[in-house]
Amino acid sequence: MSELNFLSELTGCFSRPCAENPSVAMVEAAYHRHGLDWRYINCEVPPERLGDAVLGARAMGWRGFNLSIPNKIEIIQYLDGLGESARIIGAVNCVVARDGKLIGENTDGKGFLQSLTDKVDPAGKSMVMFGAGGAARAIGVEVAIAGAAKITVVNRNAQRGGELVTLLNDKTPADADLVVWDGEYRIPDGTDIVVNATCIGLFPDVDARLPLDVDTLKEGMVVADVITNPPRTHLVRDAEARGCVALDGMGMLVNQGVIGIKYWTGIDVDASVMRAKLEAIFGG
Ligand code: NDP
Repeated sequence: MSELNFLSELTGCFSRPCAENPSVAMVEAAYHRHGLDWRYINCEVPPERLGDAVLGARAMGWRGFNLSIPNKIEIIQYLDGLGESARIIGAVNCVVARDGKLIGENTDGKGFLQSLTDKVDPAGKSMVMFGAGGAARAIGVEVAIAGAAKITVVNRNAQRGGELVTLLNDKTPADADLVVWDGEYRIPDGTDIVVNATCIGLFPDVDARLPLDVDTLKEGMVVADVITNPPRTHLVRDAEARGCVALDGMGMLVNQGVIGIKYWTGIDVDASVMRAKLEAIFGG
């Protein structure tokens, strides 16, 4: 009998361990709340060992796992299929065992969309999004699939920004355009949703601010930040001070966890216990 038989189910995370991994703490809090005899463990897997790690997960009957940078794209070659948005985004952060096959999903954008739709239905709306990296791709594709009419990508690097705009125009129904970020950006009138999908404001650079004229944030706009640490970024506080509906990055992180657990276990878990765990780690 193998040592792992005492665990009824295993899910996992191929990333780098740290003292208290917020994702592990958050997912295990949900397992505990719902009495699930499951474990979510964190394994450091360098890209050159990724194929071996996937074989190991298959051999041990893992129900799935998450991936962090730099494994989100490399993983695709080792999987048996991809969900729709993961295929368009070209990156996988969540793998699910379905009928003996490992299927790659992208729950980052879905988690963001869940937070957003709690406040506003993006269908027919106009969105400005700062950034064109992995988080921006995932958010842009999901919001576009959900029916956003217009997405303006604002990015420093014109090539990366242009690639995302081309992807959105070619693979989704949304109308996307690029603004190369050079100096203080002014949000155009008529914008409904503003998203920071860059690393600006992430710990330890907590005092960093987006080059943005904050007076162009208008009452009623929904303003979302992807930064989780700290959750109350300058952007979140500036948006609240101007009467916008502000969303912090913890909602996205919690919701991608909720969606992943649903994929693995079939259970809708209580998001509040997961958020409470993150607030204990990052501060509310
Ligand atoms: P990437 O490295 O793929 O992309 C980073 C993006 O930020 C690029 O568009 C880059 O612009 C831009 N950027 C970085 N620094 C600056 C700066 N000083 N000025 C202007 N633009 C800048 O990172 P990810 O997309 O993977 O992650 C972005 C953020 O999203 C991270 O903070 C991450 O923690 C967060 N995240 C949050 C999640 C959540 O659940 N809340 C989930 C996933 C990510 P350029 O192309 O010009 O270099």
